Amino acid sequence: MTVQNATPEQEAMPEQRRILRTEVPGPRSRERHARRSQVLAAGLGTTLPVFVERAGGGIIVDADGNHLIDLASGIAVTSVGASAPAVVSRVREQVGRFTHTCFLVTEYDGYVEVAARLNELTPGDHPKRTALFSTGAEAVENAVKIARAATGRPGVVVFEHAYHGRSLMTLAMTAKEHPYKTGFGPFPGQVHRAPYAYPLRWPGGPERCAEEALAALEDLLAEVGPQTVAAVVIEPIQGEGGFVVPAPGFLAGVREIAARHGIVFVLDEVQAGIGRTGTMFAAEHEGIVPDLVVTAKALAGGLPLAAVTGRAEIMDAVHPGGLGGTYAGNPVACAAALGVLEMFRDGALLERARAIEAQVRAGLAAAMDSPYAAELRGRGAMMAIEFARPAEPGAVPEPAPEIAQQVAARCHAQGVLVLVCGTHGNVIRLLPPLVIGPDLLADALEVLSAAIEAVTAGAGAP
Ligand SMILES: *Cc1c(COP(=O)(O)O)cnc(C)c1O
Repeated sequence: MTVQNATPEQEAMPEQRRILRTEVPGPRSRERHARRSQVLAAGLGTTLPVFVERAGGGIIVDADGNHLIDLASGIAVTSVGASAPAVVSRVREQVGRFTHTCFLVTEYDGYVEVAARLNELTPGDHPKRTALFSTGAEAVENAVKIARAATGRPGVVVFEHAYHGRSLMTLAMTAKEHPYKTGFGPFPGQVHRAPYAYPLRWPGGPERCAEEALAALEDLLAEVGPQTVAAVVIEPIQGEGGFVVPAPGFLAGVREIAARHGIVFVLDEVQAGIGRTGTMFAAEHEGIVPDLVVTAKALAGGLPLAAVTGRAEIMDAVHPGGLGGTYAGNPVACAAALGVLEMFRDGALLERARAIEAQVRAGLAAAMDSPYAAELRGRGAMMAIEFARPAEPGAVPEPAPEIAQQVAARCHAQGVLVLVCGTHGNVIRLLPPLVIGPDLLADALEVLSAAIEAVTAGAGAP
């Protein structure tokens, strides 16, 4: 059968199969990478130095013609695929009409439409308002500004292992020093850090984790004075910090404590939100209704767009002219977001995210028998393995970052793009596009399992 009138997007969709034509990275990528080193600032890191020619579905095609399996989605961004027709066609149409007006200068429908959809989709049926921005960090900072304006209080409470971005305020909120903060201080003050209920690494054991972490938050608030705190900002599942799913009851407890003290509860759904975990927002798994929710990464299928959505009375506390930005809510990015949100409308992609979780759990079950594979955790298409040295029952296991690094390197060499995360760099995270096919995912999981078995066998007796 010949496909007639195939759209340019369909023609561009790479064959959904892992193909290795050269070593990874191949000679063409290496040559371009060498040039890059002469041109770019040294501070820009790269996980896998291959140059990309095209991408779509679950495949990235590099300059040497290798078809790599994408278990990264550009860090949880291209959840609908990197060239989804519903996104690409809307972007083409919008670009042809106009690329920018600045919403602070003249208005356009796309901005209002995206805001209306987010007001509808985010948890809670109270009246809501949305403001759009360009990056996750920018939106998190604006959520803090809004919470300060609404409460008249300065303080911000964040958590251990948190990641909220790389701008100066969000670096103050991000937990990990290296590489994010090294050399960049001083940072804004009045940012207080409480423990996150991280079951695997909780000294008192997973059963007491939520209760003790909540008690620590109460202690911190007693110290700094809850009446000085504008916002508590929390990831429903931590991203860069290691895909930490908090102990059951922790999120609800934080939410309750914030409400009791009149503190604005801000959910950072930048990585976990927009369908990634099998629900539109990760906090829905625990029935949490936030005051403000921050979205970005997957919102516009690869175009830069971010949002703060929340209770009308909090959002509207800011004076006219107090929010905005030259590019904030760019019309091309809004068109892309409307394509993304349309793709989520029938629920099939959320179903896919849940099917991905089941396939990952089954596909990695045997590899999890390795004594270094401490935990497989996550929700939906946001799954991770933490590597640690074998420990006595009840003891907190010592992180094994070298195992995670070696497993990732083997996967990369075999054409499977995985990312490492975690405060200790000992977690491999899987963020496939939700549109990845089951056969392609199965192939990737086999490569990953073989890598875990080979690396941990070579790690010697525990
Ligand atoms: C990536 C991320 C951010 C920052 O988003 P940028 O678009 O990179 O500024 C903030 N919070 C979380 C949870 C993230 O994963």
